[in-house]
Amino acid sequence: MTTTRFAPSPTGYIHVGNLRTALMNYLIARKAGGTFILRIDDTDPERSKEEYVDAIKQDMEWLGLHWDRVERQSDRLDRYAETADKLREMGRFYEAFETPTELDLKRKKQLNMGKPPVYDRAALNLSDAEKEALRAKRGNGVWRFKLDHERIEWNDGILGDISIDAASVSDPVLIRGDGQVLYTIASVVDDTEMGVTNVVRGSDHVTNTATQIQIIEALGGTCPRFAHHSLLTGPQGEALSKRLGTLALRDLREQGVQPMALLSLMARLGSSDPVELRSEMAELIEGFDVNRFGAAPTKFDVQDLFPLTAKHLQSLPLADVAEAVADAGVPADLAEPFWAMARENITTLADLKGWWELCRDGAEPLIADEDREFIAEAMALLPEGSFDGETWGKWTSTVKEATGRKGKGLFMPLRKALTGMERGPEMAILLPLLQVIRAKA
Ligand code: GLU
Repeated sequence: MTTTRFAPSPTGYIHVGNLRTALMNYLIARKAGGTFILRIDDTDPERSKEEYVDAIKQDMEWLGLHWDRVERQSDRLDRYAETADKLREMGRFYEAFETPTELDLKRKKQLNMGKPPVYDRAALNLSDAEKEALRAKRGNGVWRFKLDHERIEWNDGILGDISIDAASVSDPVLIRGDGQVLYTIASVVDDTEMGVTNVVRGSDHVTNTATQIQIIEALGGTCPRFAHHSLLTGPQGEALSKRLGTLALRDLREQGVQPMALLSLMARLGSSDPVELRSEMAELIEGFDVNRFGAAPTKFDVQDLFPLTAKHLQSLPLADVAEAVADAGVPADLAEPFWAMARENITTLADLKGWWELCRDGAEPLIADEDREFIAEAMALLPEGSFDGETWGKWTSTVKEATGRKGKGLFMPLRKALTGMERGPEMAILLPLLQVIRAKA
């Protein structure tokens, strides 16, 4: 059965980059009728925070990315310790004692000699007595996985055939000197034991994948199908990594971005299919194919989310936005006509408030000197009684007859006088909502 996981480290809020990973894994699982796991990668007790775990869940719920179950790496430390023992028994795990400064020096030397900066495995030559002495002096060493020096190959769902020379990669550290288990091994143990069949993650993980494939194979597990999506850049192709902090999902939510706008964009951006606004998650699931994504960096422009949000809002019935309409101050008996007017004229729901204020209080009229008399005459001709969808048509016909004005010369001054703007809602829909005018009538 298809099983995928989204595996954030709870060290911050999730942003558009993480969302891509979450969404792709979610869509693969749902399309296949499989399982989607939310895995909290919290083996780093100093950086992991409970508030971020909660925030990640909230953000995913906001988007409707429902998980089938939650797993936490901090609950599974004994599993990782067992696996570490296994690797030790197999002779694939060794303790190394170099300090960060020593490693740095080694790397610099290698680079000076034109060699790739790969860990030289000096620790493999330490005798037991030497290790004992180093341990006494420096504390426990780190534990490195001994890679087999051969080519590591896989067919990547996005990048195609990949082949990496294991000799060009340092033996990965899987356990730190203080005993902290690192993501590389925890992830392998989880993916294997939880039967994860497909892993989509960012292309910054390609080297990890190479080493993880060897670890999985050493443990006799089955490798998931890997796919690595390209990293997001800004609209000009600039690195986004520094700005991701401002592209947290909660910031976008605050700015009024609608979930379906964000999901529709992210499910297609960087693929060979066009971005199309979808109204239901089911449509996104149906149309998703990870193989259609390309390896080239993907340009992301936060501004693209706003036209999609506007279009999405336009398509919604009042029932879906009733709360926002009420929050803007609109009385229940006007909610239906108000929404019919406003939906065409907002970018985000936050704009509702301004439209309601215009309806309730009227606008500062915009009247050119040459129109002053005309407007006064028109206002005097406003029909008595309650306004409806016909009122504007009737009124303007009367005004036309009385003043001889027509077309733009008739409508534009009226619009500007009533709304203070040159453009905006259809006047026939707006007029019955203008409380001030109604009160005068
Ligand atoms: N916690 C890892 C990350 O956030 C997970 C990577 C993976 O999907 O394996 O980068």
